[in-house]
Amino acid sequence: METKNIKAFGTEAAEAPLKTLDIQRRAVQAHDVEIEILYCGICHSDLHSARNEWHGTMYPIVPGHEIVGRVVKIGDHVKNFKVGQLAGVGCMVDSCRECEHCKNDLEQYCDEGNILTFNSADKHLGGHTFGGYSQSIVVDENYVLHISDKLDLAGVAPLLCAGITTYSPLKHWKVGPGQKVGIVGIGGLGHMGIKLAKAMGAHVVVFTTSVSKFDAAKSLGADEVVLSTDPEQMAKHAKSLNFILDCVSAEHNIDSYLNLLKVDGTLTLVGAPMEPLPVTSFSLLLGRRSFAGSAIGGIAETQEMLDFCAEHNITADIELIGINEINDAYERLLKGDIKYRFVIDMASLK
Ligand SMILES: [Zn+2]
Ligand SMILES: [Zn+2]
Repeated sequence: METKNIKAFGTEAAEAPLKTLDIQRRAVQAHDVEIEILYCGICHSDLHSARNEWHGTMYPIVPGHEIVGRVVKIGDHVKNFKVGQLAGVGCMVDSCRECEHCKNDLEQYCDEGNILTFNSADKHLGGHTFGGYSQSIVVDENYVLHISDKLDLAGVAPLLCAGITTYSPLKHWKVGPGQKVGIVGIGGLGHMGIKLAKAMGAHVVVFTTSVSKFDAAKSLGADEVVLSTDPEQMAKHAKSLNFILDCVSAEHNIDSYLNLLKVDGTLTLVGAPMEPLPVTSFSLLLGRRSFAGSAIGGIAETQEMLDFCAEHNITADIELIGINEINDAYERLLKGDIKYRFVIDMASLK
């Protein structure tokens, strides 16, 4: 297959810093869209993957799955995109399209395993897929999203992962007006959860371990902010929440949050702590509560989320960086020193 040589930013080893790399993209096929990448968000999973912390990383790795850009070329059979339009790519670039989940717009749970934007087997070129820290990407149009030109493009990029990861569970558990919803943690995911839950009409209660984040939570849209380390403040919300979106990736006390749910309430994890989380049976039994998890969202739902954000004027709060600042950004990410997402200005990759 014909290929095109492009510049990217990635690493050849877990311990090595990221640097400029040359990679190959496939030539545009009949159903493909080629996107010149303008912005790419930095997700925590980029860092985990680059450093092989979840194991199985194939090197060289080019991370990045919060991609926004402009269509520069389309294949002969492309129906839904035109050259010059804005386009986005999230965590997936393909899936089996045959299993019950793919047929039900739940490609994120594809039985065959979907093809992730980076570090999945590349069925076109062999080897593995390369992500959005690069000049361009070629993706089947069925896995490409339409992006509104009403919103700040750099702030849209994180919607492709952090946005859909929080939107999908809020929709699935039918968050809306008249409900009290808890958001645990105010990071890349949590700050999107607050904005989205608020826009869906819920009364939003934010839980944080830090008094210093109270004002930030309020300005993001929180109706109430609770210091989760203060048992008295926590007790005030006992048995009162319909739903809790847990965005924390570190070890934390699940029982203390389950006990805040009403009867039939659900706590859903979207953060991914490395260690197992202990749960006391009575936290679930007394109140018929559910403890659940959720991973990104399907392609149709991702489009729905992007349209919802355009309608409600929602973007991520970001810090725009140049490509050479990625290694520093990773260190700051580890310290939680970011409000709330780094986005790379891809014009800086030369
Ligand atoms: Zn991500
Ligand atoms: Zn499938």
